[in-house]
Amino acid sequence: MTDSAPWPQPLDGTITPRFAGPASFMRLPMRADATGLDIALLGVPFDGGTTNRPGTRHGPRQMREMSAMLRRVHPVSRIEPYRLCRIADVGDVDANPMDLMGALDSIEARVAALRAGGAWTLAAGGDHLISLPILRGIHRAAPGLGPLGLVHFDAHSDTNDSYFGGSRFTHGTPFRRAIEEGLLDPRRIVQIGIRGSLFDPEDMVWARQVGVRILTIEECEELGPAGVVAEARRVAGDGATYLTFDVDSLDPAFAPGTGTPEAGGFTPREAQRMLRGLAGLNLIGADVVEVSPPFDAGGGTALVGETMMFEILCLLAEARHRAAA
Ligand code: MN
Ligand code: MN
Repeated sequence: MTDSAPWPQPLDGTITPRFAGPASFMRLPMRADATGLDIALLGVPFDGGTTNRPGTRHGPRQMREMSAMLRRVHPVSRIEPYRLCRIADVGDVDANPMDLMGALDSIEARVAALRAGGAWTLAAGGDHLISLPILRGIHRAAPGLGPLGLVHFDAHSDTNDSYFGGSRFTHGTPFRRAIEEGLLDPRRIVQIGIRGSLFDPEDMVWARQVGVRILTIEECEELGPAGVVAEARRVAGDGATYLTFDVDSLDPAFAPGTGTPEAGGFTPREAQRMLRGLAGLNLIGADVVEVSPPFDAGGGTALVGETMMFEILCLLAEARHRAAA
């Protein structure tokens, strides 16, 4: 973790105003070469898995733009991620928008290469299908890892089998595929904020049968943020765990710029309380997905998405720092 070269730092907003300069995640240096990084902030501009309103291919660029609003120190925990870890923006995956399976391969290969070089990824999507190749890439770089736990914020379970008469790779199916492929341990998956009308009464029956803990929005309301955190920590346990945050877990009042909005969701405050409660979890990677700028007049969804990305970055930096110690 120590070296003589200075660690990457965000552009200092007290010197270079936050509205100035080119946009990068958290105003960090752009580094295509991830050598020596502990955490890579990776854009995945791909929406080929989208079943409804498109546009998340534009997510990373808009999230970079809005991340200029963020400063360097967490306001409550006082974590300074850029002093715990070497973190930079490594740019975007070249994901072919004309070739779904090829794009998945590209995402997997990029994540595997980053992790093989020591850089954990915090990815910005893209639609939720990107979590599948990211998980594949994590396992490809560490074959002995074993199935991961998952803390999954979302309005949707994303464990359907297929769409439109047999399409198995969509943003409504990634976690079913990940369980089938042995990337995730279903008994260590907790889904938080699930709501919205169903296609069929049998939706989510499979997920519950294989042991996924589904916390509906009604149950989250009963438990409150502290109770949700306790349940998430119980389910995920001590093992290696991935965190995925679908911005549609938030209410469309706060995050309208997304493909599949569902009324009756979390406030950003509730999401922040829950994320902060996950400190100390054995996280090894994360993503924030489903920001769709064409539906995001004013950029508020990208801003709230980036705000959650900073919360998650603080958790991940602590976990990366612990793992290196
Ligand atoms: Mn999702
Ligand atoms: Mn969703």
